Amino acid sequence: MIEFKNVSVNFKLDKKTFDAVNNVSFRINKGEIFGIAGSSGAGKSTLLRTVNLLQQITKGNVFVDGDNITCIKGNQLRILRRNIGMIFQHFNLAGNLTVYQNIAFVLKAAGKTKKETDSRVKELLDLVNLTEKINVYPSKLSGGEKQRVAIARALANDAKILLCDEPTSALDVETTSSILKLLKELNKKFEITIIIITHELDVIKSVCSRCAIMNKGDVVEIGDVYEIFTKPQHDFTRQLISHTFNFNLPDDIIENMQGPIIKLTFQGDNANNPILSYAANTFQIGFNILLGKVEYINDLPLGVIYVHLIGEEEVLKLAIEYLAENTANLEVLYNGI
Ligand code: ADP
Repeated sequence: MIEFKNVSVNFKLDKKTFDAVNNVSFRINKGEIFGIAGSSGAGKSTLLRTVNLLQQITKGNVFVDGDNITCIKGNQLRILRRNIGMIFQHFNLAGNLTVYQNIAFVLKAAGKTKKETDSRVKELLDLVNLTEKINVYPSKLSGGEKQRVAIARALANDAKILLCDEPTSALDVETTSSILKLLKELNKKFEITIIIITHELDVIKSVCSRCAIMNKGDVVEIGDVYEIFTKPQHDFTRQLISHTFNFNLPDDIIENMQGPIIKLTFQGDNANNPILSYAANTFQIGFNILLGKVEYINDLPLGVIYVHLIGEEEVLKLAIEYLAENTANLEVLYNGI
């Protein structure tokens, strides 16, 4: 378990200090895949790096498995870092070392013998499906392969926590999904706690169970990923999510409509019910679907449709009330009544 308690990190810039992380408190459970999302400069990376003390903490405390690590030094810090693996956007492999040497390096530093190192490197490469590249230099590997080596290296000393700093931001869509699949497998197999920071909400959507949303050093929202994506509470989260759904109506469509335009969100169970046609029949209104899409969040369906409603004022109000009660969320985008 990782716990941030009133954590702030200040930087000095031109004699002024500013809070890159501002009084953040929350917990990450053992064995979960936790995401931290937000735009660039939000403080995600700074916060993540407090967990292995690559970043000093200005105020507050960080606990790892119940131990306050905020001020640890020397041997204690070495042990902490050995138990916490980390991977980065640009992989950070040593270019002058082969795949074998990149991984063996951290095993030797932890005092493993040559025999132990050899067998562990083989085991790790098998785990990340890269056995045949053992003697290859990083320059001869694809981005996805480099990240696989980085993952193997990060887990070499049986890390129970894996910190991922924008792990897929330098990868194409297909490679991204194979790396995320690997992280998911490793999480399941070894119950590793994984923290992923990313500006790509698609990453959060596909692998994380819970997430925190950061903006300008603050954690503005935290919770179950599905809940946050279906019912964002904070304006910043709403904005962030609307970008990832890439799912907005052109303004001129809205301006030229008579009658309301609503956005309906359907979740898991209610996604299959014919709620819209039931409302149309019951209240004698017409409807026109302007746009629709189903997304999968953590393997659960989330449907969003934009609908133009047509009818008399009174029945439209009743229909909207009914739809609001029977869908996960209803937003009136344009009143038009
Ligand atoms: P994110 O990971 O969300 O993109 P960062 O944590 O990297 O954001 O950075 C948060 C803010 O702190 C940014 O304004 C960044 O420029 C600043 N920052 C990060 N590291 C340092 C540093 N070592 N010295 C000064 N400012 C820093």
